[in-house]
Amino acid sequence: MTTKFRVFATCDIGESIDVLRRRGYAVEVYAKPEPPPKNLIIEKVKSGIDGLITTLRDQIDAEVFEAGKGTLKIVAQYAVGFDNVNRADANRYQIPFTHTPDVLTEATAEYAFFIMGALARKLWPAEHLTRDNQWGYWHPYLPFLGDEVTGKTVAVIGTGRIGLAMIRKCVGFDMNILCYDPAYQNHDFVKAIQEVKDLNFARRLSRDRTWIKYVEFDEALADADFVTVHVPLLREGESSTPTYHLFNERTLRAMQPTAYLVNTSRGPVVDEAALARALRENWIAGAALDVYETEPLPADSPLRDSVIEDRCRLYPHFASAARITRLSTDPNRGMAGRCAQGLIDVLEGNYGGEIRKMPYVVNKEAFPA
Ligand code: NAD
Repeated sequence: MTTKFRVFATCDIGESIDVLRRRGYAVEVYAKPEPPPKNLIIEKVKSGIDGLITTLRDQIDAEVFEAGKGTLKIVAQYAVGFDNVNRADANRYQIPFTHTPDVLTEATAEYAFFIMGALARKLWPAEHLTRDNQWGYWHPYLPFLGDEVTGKTVAVIGTGRIGLAMIRKCVGFDMNILCYDPAYQNHDFVKAIQEVKDLNFARRLSRDRTWIKYVEFDEALADADFVTVHVPLLREGESSTPTYHLFNERTLRAMQPTAYLVNTSRGPVVDEAALARALRENWIAGAALDVYETEPLPADSPLRDSVIEDRCRLYPHFASAARITRLSTDPNRGMAGRCAQGLIDVLEGNYGGEIRKMPYVVNKEAFPA
């Protein structure tokens, strides 16, 4: 078989690599589990590859695009978030980049829901009690109690794909829902959710009548028992409503002292120094985090302080880490399949070669109709 295209993948995305090889692609995979150094990526791009498969661990900017000038046709990102790819640079070099939306939506939302529950019901300290042989008696309130999730009020910050999926999961727990999103408000969805809630109440499937509504940010913070974050990382200059340090001293203090923060979006959305203080000084009740300002979480992070250990759940950027979601070769089920399909679409000129029409291309604006 003649080699159609040369591709370098900065990590192994499983059987989808074989799918590409079976189509005649020459695919080189960086074999180590950690990310390759940037100069290796640049070297590979300079060697004239047609496609580059990346993940959120790789910084893809002008240096990389310059190295691929005239040869690199596509950067296929294995993730829905693409804050590691400099969009302005990609546009300047007219190189399309793709991402993997939708296929990780449910996995990420259910994970956010689970860590919210694990935090509130103190599953981690409770298991420690058992494992460390500190479980000496059954008692009405000693050594500690958790907080129920059922019937509480949750604020969903960012009502895009994952935020809406999170809302659907919260409905099953009869939660009242405050929605905040400055750019995208899905009123039809909110109306449908209210109808489901009303039906649950009318048919006595829910004890109380519960509600959902869009509110302003400060109202969401002030009234919520749980605040869950589902925004992209947008730095100053990238959006009129940037999300960098959206959670900072002011906004953390605006939450109730009994409220919990859940972040499965991107680490820099939360000012970690402020959050560590918020937990130490009890501005809020607790936090469950999947993402950090620096990943992996540094050994000296203030979030590791043993004083806040029972109220601060720390997870290793794991929200999409489920078997089908990560590895299915089906573009409608797995990140790997969708990543490979995005690459194929561009390299093989699907959609009549019109990049603007290709569903997984992010920077469509760089390719006029
Ligand atoms: P999406 O684009 O569908 O939704 C994001 C929403 O955030 C949009 O509706 C947007 O209008 C809104 N938004 C933008 N700025 C905002 C602001 N200042 N305040 C409130 N809302 C704002 O994206 P998605 O598919 O739902 O994914 C959301 C993010 O989740 C991704 O960008 C990614 O960074 C993160 N993510 C993390 C994991 C993980 O493993 N932890 C997995 C998947 C996605």
